[in-house]
Amino acid sequence: MKQICVVGVGYVGLVTAACFADLGNRVVALDVDEKRIENLKKGIMPIYEPGLEELVKRNVKGGRLSFTTSYDEALKGTEFAFIAVGTPSGVDGNADLQYVEVAARSIAKAMTAPLIIINKSTVPIGTGDWVADIVRNAQPKPIDFAVVSCPEFLREGSAIADFMNPHRNVIGSLDKDAANKVAQLHLPLRAPIVITDLRTAEMIKYASNAFLATKISFINELADLCELVGADVKEVAAGMGYDARIGRHFLDAGLGWGGSCFPKDVQALAYMAKEKGLNPRILNEVMNVNYDRRKQVSKHVEAMLGGSLKGKVVGLLGLAFKENTDDMRDAPSIDIANALIAGGAQVRGYDPVARETAAPLMPAVEIFDDVYKMAEGCDALIVVTPWNEFKQLDLEKVKALLRTPVVYDGRNIYDPARMRELGFTYRAIGRGFNGSETNSQRVK
Ligand code: NAD
Repeated sequence: MKQICVVGVGYVGLVTAACFADLGNRVVALDVDEKRIENLKKGIMPIYEPGLEELVKRNVKGGRLSFTTSYDEALKGTEFAFIAVGTPSGVDGNADLQYVEVAARSIAKAMTAPLIIINKSTVPIGTGDWVADIVRNAQPKPIDFAVVSCPEFLREGSAIADFMNPHRNVIGSLDKDAANKVAQLHLPLRAPIVITDLRTAEMIKYASNAFLATKISFINELADLCELVGADVKEVAAGMGYDARIGRHFLDAGLGWGGSCFPKDVQALAYMAKEKGLNPRILNEVMNVNYDRRKQVSKHVEAMLGGSLKGKVVGLLGLAFKENTDDMRDAPSIDIANALIAGGAQVRGYDPVARETAAPLMPAVEIFDDVYKMAEGCDALIVVTPWNEFKQLDLEKVKALLRTPVVYDGRNIYDPARMRELGFTYRAIGRGFNGSETNSQRVK
């Protein structure tokens, strides 16, 4: 059993803390947000993540997990301090490191014994060295410490399973002893461990996210071509995905990526390249292709509604940036709603869990707590988030509730042939001629 402190109880920090506790360690999770800590002590989660509440409660009950706002308390007797604070985009596109800086300074002031400081946040290359300088300069008296980069690769919505069954753990440090100790901590996860230097570890995280974002933008560009040539992008992705060199993951055409990671990480990587005098052509286009997806939705829906959005009521199926999360950071729903409203539409929204996080970000959108109530009287529905709940909708009932049976399936969750059979005016992404037929149907 090791004693661990985790700084930041957001999507990454709270999952990290709860999972390390579940692996038998003693974990103190710390946040500067007093309300979050107060709520966690009462068993109220600050975020929605499947399975998290049970995991947290089980480990609190088992005496392995506790919460505090005090760095002194969190660092007492601790050998490892994970930094898992936010690194949002700054005004210039680079990552804003203000939270990392405060966390590093606070750790330096409170530490009373040698410590391994492990950065889990996604940070620009060179940040580990910068953190080491901050700690050195902020320590009231010199105490040994090492800085290790251990980037996190979990996905919201499947964060616990991802943390517990990682494809790999990346550990970067110039201090071999510290790197080995952090590797030991990860041994129970039985995944390959890549031990490297600090800067390479930091780069692996950005490179991974940028590559996944590139895959999505690539298939989305192909989806547009599929529509024009009458191919079905779902079948194209399936056919490509069997090739082990390509893989099936992250080849789902749709409304593009959003959320708290890809947008800021691709942007920060491009920023770093520009700072070094490079022209990051691929990264720039990956972003352009992605954000163009959002712009075209309102135009497509307008065309489906006869050329005008004025006075039309449009319902958004899903608001969160992806399914199984309440995270609304850079969610496509926000841009899509704004474009529809700018075109004169009245916009409604429904999401199984993101209603509260969405409401302040889209004040002009009427948010419903029942999907069928939202559909009643709508002129069109747009599938924005592929929640399972939407795949199981009673489509006949939906059709009867709509004023005009128009569905824009931004996540390709429905079968075009069935939608046509049911009498919907239906458009999907890259599925034959605007989802009106698929290759396999034509073959028949
Ligand atoms: P988040 O915004 O959900 O949580 C950050 C938490 O840190 C908040 O609770 C905030 O109050 C707290 N905090 C800020 N400053 C603090 C300080 N000085 N001391 C203590 N707590 C402080 O962020 P997140 O989504 O968990 O992301 C954290 C990092 O992990 C980011 O760098 C992100 O890029 C990276 N990451 C995120 C994901 C993801 O899916 N969300 C996945 C992999 C990596």
